[in-house]
Amino acid sequence: MTTLASVVSCLSDYDPNALPVAQAQAIMRDFVQPVSGVARVPVRSALDRVLAEDVLSSIDVPSHDNSAMDGFAFASAELASAAGEVSLRVIGTAYAGVAFDGAPTAGEAVRVMTGAVMPAGCDTVIPQEFTQGDANTVRFARDAVRAGDNRRLRGEDLARGSAALSAGRTLRPADIGLLASLGIAEVSVRRKLRVAFFSTGDELRSIGEPLDAGCVYDSNRYTLHAMLSRLGVELLDMGVVRDDPAALETAFRTAAENADAIITSGGVSVGEADFTKQMMAKLGDVTFWKIAMRPGRPMAFGRITSDGPNSQGAFLFGLPGNPVAVMVTFYHFVRGALLRMMGATDAGAPLVPAVSATPIRKRPGRTEYQRAIAALNDRGQLEVRLTGQQGSGVLRSMSEANCFVVLAHEQGHVNAGDTVQVLLFDGLV
Ligand code: AMP
Ligand code: MG
Repeated sequence: MTTLASVVSCLSDYDPNALPVAQAQAIMRDFVQPVSGVARVPVRSALDRVLAEDVLSSIDVPSHDNSAMDGFAFASAELASAAGEVSLRVIGTAYAGVAFDGAPTAGEAVRVMTGAVMPAGCDTVIPQEFTQGDANTVRFARDAVRAGDNRRLRGEDLARGSAALSAGRTLRPADIGLLASLGIAEVSVRRKLRVAFFSTGDELRSIGEPLDAGCVYDSNRYTLHAMLSRLGVELLDMGVVRDDPAALETAFRTAAENADAIITSGGVSVGEADFTKQMMAKLGDVTFWKIAMRPGRPMAFGRITSDGPNSQGAFLFGLPGNPVAVMVTFYHFVRGALLRMMGATDAGAPLVPAVSATPIRKRPGRTEYQRAIAALNDRGQLEVRLTGQQGSGVLRSMSEANCFVVLAHEQGHVNAGDTVQVLLFDGLV
């Protein structure tokens, strides 16, 4: 089993008390391992699952040359022999799914519907709207079409034997359709990840309990539930765990026994007086970081082992307690690590450039994730504006935002009109 010490020993400038974001991400990527279990599932159930094997096409798609338009199919040799206008005799019709049996000879054409198999000897289709004529003849200008136009070639989407989808791909709607177009009923996907999560902190109250003085409702567990649901993992919600060594030990052991990953929030700050950190260190190979970022500075990472049959234990992500810090650290660290554990190889969400509508104060030497709203301005540029209060406890700043402005480690102050990088929250598919 790889240890954290061996992973970080490869880094010459490793400093757990001022760890750059990129280094923390790299350590996590190196330390976590993809789960090995595989399941066969029907194509419809494979949406958002990670493909466990390459899918090769067993057929040509499309299986025949066919027409891309409603119109008339003919041999392109007719174009060479015609003067300004082409005039052909229509000898029949081919429908999608019902081929035309005959073979046109010189001077002949076949009426074709979109998707109809190209009649023998025909390689070109003139769309209906460029033609004149009657039931028996079709006429069109020779220059209205070139040889080979409006014909889809056999195997043009996928040639038999070619890789349709590669292992590690997270299946999206188009992929589900692609699998169906190959006639594939079932695919092998990685088994779902099991993720246990709980909140720590004696000030936390659950929904339904009275809110005593100085207490707050536990929101992190709900945010985590929602973020994890989007990833399609199996959830093990372990509630709020009291700041009590026995309760924490039981919680960590149960989680390590039953899950692939454990996510906690709270109790990892510097000078934290509770037992969370102690118990993490006691039960596993765990390191405590101060990451050069804002928000989300303190974080614990490693592996918790258990005495039970699951000797692998579970990877631990000990997130800070502040609600915005939970979301920021989840999206920028945990999500990528969980995707790797799920066996996904897809690249992460892309950063896109946007013009900052306002100045943004930023200190070099840490990565900042500011909550913002991006929209097209009247010049058609993507323009971004911060959502007011950026405190790491102000969950409203996440709720109102539609993107993060990602200010890189070395970056200094931003002037109004400068280009910044943004990470949009919502993707189309
Ligand atoms: P901590 O990291 O435990 O010091 O927590 C930092 C701040 O986040 C404190 O104000 C906590 O009350 C708050 N906090 C911690 N856990 C939660 C939670 N589950 N839901 C909402 N707020 C939390
Ligand atoms: Mg706390």
